[in-house]
Amino acid sequence: MGLITAPSNTPVWVNVSRCKACDICVSMCPAGVLGMIQAPNSTLGSMIEVVAPDSCIGCKDCELHCPDFAIYVADKSEFKFAKLSEASKERAEKSETK
Ligand code: SF4
Ligand code: SF4
Repeated sequence: MGLITAPSNTPVWVNVSRCKACDICVSMCPAGVLGMIQAPNSTLGSMIEVVAPDSCIGCKDCELHCPDFAIYVADKSEFKFAKLSEASKERAEKSETK
């Protein structure tokens, strides 16, 4: 991992070597695209995961609010993002209350 350049056909990706698992992007995402997973091998104990890439709407809220510049969103010219659905909103609400 440690990707800084865009992987092809991917809406959102994380440079895990910069991510400090602060959870800010998870709470910012309106579409429930991001989540935290247990990562016993990480010194942080958890790590961000893109759990629902197909639901990403390309709003860039995660990228704009990450204090460590660890998460990136594809450009709208390069990726056809989803529209915000009710299912995505519900998933986002659940991830906020965890
Ligand atoms: S906001 Fe940045 S540092 Fe925090 S969990 Fe998300 S990607 Fe990692
Ligand atoms: S760009 Fe928006 S919808 Fe996509 S993961 Fe980031 S915050 Fe969520």
